Amino acid sequence: MADNQIVKTEFVYKILVIDDEKRIRDVTSRLLTQEGFEVAVAETGDMGMKMIEKTNYDIILLDLMMPGISGLEVLPYLKANHPYSVVIVITGYATLEHSIEAMKKGAFDFIPKPFEPKDLRIVITKAVEFLSTLQDIANEKSRMGVLVNQLSGGVMATDTRKRIALANPAFLKMIDYFGQDVIGRQVSEVFQNESIERMIDQALAMSTETISDFTKELDFGKNILSVRCIPFRDRLNRNLGTITVMYDITALKKIDQLKTDFVNMVAHEIRSPLNSIAMQLKVILDGLAGAVTEKQKEILDRASKKINALSNLSTELLDLAKIESGLITQEKEEFQIGSLLEDQVAFFQQAAVAKGISLELDAVPGLPPVLANKRNMEEVFSNLITNAIHYTPENGKISILAVAVKKHLCVSITDTGFGIPSEDLPKIFDRFYRVKNEKTRYITGTGLGLPIVKSILDAHNGKIRVESEPDKGSTFYVYLPI
Ligand code: ADP
Repeated sequence: MADNQIVKTEFVYKILVIDDEKRIRDVTSRLLTQEGFEVAVAETGDMGMKMIEKTNYDIILLDLMMPGISGLEVLPYLKANHPYSVVIVITGYATLEHSIEAMKKGAFDFIPKPFEPKDLRIVITKAVEFLSTLQDIANEKSRMGVLVNQLSGGVMATDTRKRIALANPAFLKMIDYFGQDVIGRQVSEVFQNESIERMIDQALAMSTETISDFTKELDFGKNILSVRCIPFRDRLNRNLGTITVMYDITALKKIDQLKTDFVNMVAHEIRSPLNSIAMQLKVILDGLAGAVTEKQKEILDRASKKINALSNLSTELLDLAKIESGLITQEKEEFQIGSLLEDQVAFFQQAAVAKGISLELDAVPGLPPVLANKRNMEEVFSNLITNAIHYTPENGKISILAVAVKKHLCVSITDTGFGIPSEDLPKIFDRFYRVKNEKTRYITGTGLGLPIVKSILDAHNGKIRVESEPDKGSTFYVYLPI
């Protein structure tokens, strides 16, 4: 910024000039008025103090050497009563020590007499910049305060010693706290919850190279809360404390349970009549109810296929509901994943050969055993292999590789199929989601296979991840803890 230009702000700052020299008062006042400030003058320290009592000035230009009360005596009064006013002392050449003393007493800057308009502009510009930074901080603080207090989610901030620095009304309501002010008090004094304290400890203990949050669902008596805790740091990456955010998910949980119960009921009620229709169709198709013409056979075949698809859907819905309620994963046993994969590859070989697809397994010898539910694991890999066969065109290739990676066993299923567009990738594990395009159009499915796979792996503390490129192929990686 040029020396002769003062920072423009949206405020009109008020300036008071206290000086016994008329010439200084006049020149300063004229110059600053031209710059857009609101300027007042006082010819003695006494008069200045009286004016300060009535009005709040942003900047005060204070002469140190005045008859009567000197500037050095006015300064402590100013700092005590108007700590946010910026004081610039006007000094004579001979009073350098006084200027230093004034700075020690809280003056912001000094300007030696006599001064040029340019010198005045420089100190005033500095003062205005300082004031507008203070103003920005105050505005930001006020904005943050309103925002945090209006949030429907609970927010609490602590310092590194687990003392509460901020807690919004929603937070206090969620922990059912209606006592006295919590600011500055230990978290454990305000509410007792081991899980939240542990999350705060973990967040504080996190090394400065990493930043990740901890999320948990906690049962808080009447309510179920989703709690997230994360450390926050300063410019030099030092821990300053933690932020905990809570959401009440009781209603969501209830709706989810209702939905699961409903789906369960419907699937159950549909499955038996469907199976009975399928059996009756088979009786006719097998000719046990009299001769069937070619045309009738064709129609009944199509109907049977539709019935089978519906029956599959209801079975998968029931499976998903069971897995999500944690019923299936209870019985776990130790077994070799390699031999399970061999069985699966043998089982699906025929379907692969029928499409001219090569299906190969490469299990690294000496893999450690996994502790898992065997039937669940069969379901995981049969789903992934079936998908690979379905979504790979003729003469493609599917390779399965099993290796141990650190504390996990990793099984990858790679195909040379259609691949999955990047915009669909994040959604393929959602219930009923199916990629819709020219290539997948004629492939039937329920959109429940991958959600089942994911739920099973979640229940085993495992993970599934996918890499895919359209027209090149996909690789699904399954991780299981060893
Ligand atoms: P479904 O196969 O019954 O449609 P899934 O949940 O198993 O349901 O899969 C969801 C979707 O993900 C599929 O509809 C398909 O579009 C896509 N998908 C899954 N596996 C593959 C694969 N190996 N290659 C390409 N697309 C796949």
